[in-house]
Amino acid sequence: MNFSELGLSESLLKAVKRSGYEEATPIQEQTIPMVLKGQDVIGQAQTGTGKTAAFGLPIIEHVDTNNPEIQALIISPTRELAIQTQEEMYRLGKDKKVKVQVVYGGADIRRQINNLKNHPQVLVGTPGRLLDHINRRTVKLAHIQTLVLDEADEMLNMGFLDDIESIIKQTPTTRQTLLFSATMPPAIKKIGVQFMSDPQQVKIKAKELTTELIDQYYVRSRDFEKFDTMTRLIDVQDPDLTIVFGRTKRRVDELSKGLIARGYNAAGIHGDLTQQRRSQIMSRFKAGKLDILVATDVAARGLDISGVTHVYNYDIPQDPDSYVHRIGRTGRAGHHGVSLTFVTPNEMDYLREIEKLTKVRMLPLKPPTQEEAFKGQLANALSEVESLISATDTNKFSAQAEELLSQHEPVELVAALLNDITKNDASATPVKITPERPLPSHKHGGNGGGHRGGGRNGGQNRGQNRGGGYRGNSNRRHGSGGYHSDSRGGNGHSSGRSSNGSGHSSRHSYSIHKKG
Ligand code: ADP
Ligand code: MG
Repeated sequence: MNFSELGLSESLLKAVKRSGYEEATPIQEQTIPMVLKGQDVIGQAQTGTGKTAAFGLPIIEHVDTNNPEIQALIISPTRELAIQTQEEMYRLGKDKKVKVQVVYGGADIRRQINNLKNHPQVLVGTPGRLLDHINRRTVKLAHIQTLVLDEADEMLNMGFLDDIESIIKQTPTTRQTLLFSATMPPAIKKIGVQFMSDPQQVKIKAKELTTELIDQYYVRSRDFEKFDTMTRLIDVQDPDLTIVFGRTKRRVDELSKGLIARGYNAAGIHGDLTQQRRSQIMSRFKAGKLDILVATDVAARGLDISGVTHVYNYDIPQDPDSYVHRIGRTGRAGHHGVSLTFVTPNEMDYLREIEKLTKVRMLPLKPPTQEEAFKGQLANALSEVESLISATDTNKFSAQAEELLSQHEPVELVAALLNDITKNDASATPVKITPERPLPSHKHGGNGGGHRGGGRNGGQNRGQNRGGGYRGNSNRRHGSGGYHSDSRGGNGHSSGRSSNGSGHSSRHSYSIHKKG
């Protein structure tokens, strides 16, 4: 449905257009008219289906810009999501000149207090920090017309229910209450009953998992071989923006350090980093200034990043749903993506479980040899030479260049420079990654070998599918030379990708390269 049919005013339609949204998503189509009417709404739809604009557009519509008080409060579970929501609210309210602000923990509270003196009309915040401001009376809730509990299931997971209840109790009872969530556990429904009046429920059924745009590969590899294989694969595949998922915080630290040691532009994020550091890394990655982001599932959850061409699962996820969630970071907005999952020999059952869920067979990939990686390196170096030439003012260096040429053979000179821009082979910079215990074998249940499933990855798994969903937006990194993955071995992967039941017998060529 077109946004113009939803009863929004001109300035909002302009903002929608500027955001690049062409059609309303199902949750937007159904909830926007209700929220505009002032009803309480419970909206359930998968992650990535545009729930922010579903409540954001009508909220902006209702804001009275002559009123300096906070009129809408949006509670978000994490700092990252709060920031993302604030950015979207700002974008939607820009034409109308609505003031939007965000508060979250781990950041300087005095600066936030100062900013609050500018009288935001829409405030986004995480529960703890909001309560802090409310107690300090630097946030006043007396004029709240709309209260949003966003990503309510995450807030439940993070143990924020009590905080949320005490915030709700301090808002006017005349308020409109909106609750948005990907899933609806009973405790969340209870909030609806307790704090909402005659809530309208909208539930958008989860779509089929949309992974058609992602070429999914796996590499069978023993744990200690994974890192060298991965860097060689990166050399061969020459990804644009990459996310590497590791199972634990230690893994993330070690992987990002190892990648940096080998000359890659990488950084890691996980829950132990300061908020400042995480935001810094995220904005570098979003701006394309960082090539490889290493992350735990938790740290990457819910973040909307476009332009990711490759996802490497350094560790296969234990839970098939989190696999879908992870690889859903690529193949967005109609662009092709590549995912690659490392599997140790005794984790093959997990691979099969994932394939059962996605109904797509992953194609086996042979680890590249040292020579193949070097060829990939050289190909990258050659294209770098092209751009170096076009970025160089030849006149500035011509005298020295002539002099060098008179002293050395041209081949010698070029080889030396190529050597400099080509990375060393993996084996030249040894990197040791601490072994992780492999996942418990499915077949033996809990007995053989004393493994126990569950509990080991610190609550990173969710029982619910939050993957798939709407792939919209992204106003960056599009257009220039569409990304393609391709198989050079004549062993076209398209057949194996779309059908379930073929492709496993032959080892697949790893040549996945960029065109254009
Ligand atoms: P959710 O809260 O459901 O997980 P978001 O609100 O974060 O989803 O939206 C996911 C992405 O989709 C964002 O990049 C957002 O800008 C984009 N988006 C939202 N609505 C639309 C739309 N109607 N058309 C295209 N993209 C959209
Ligand atoms: Mg959301």
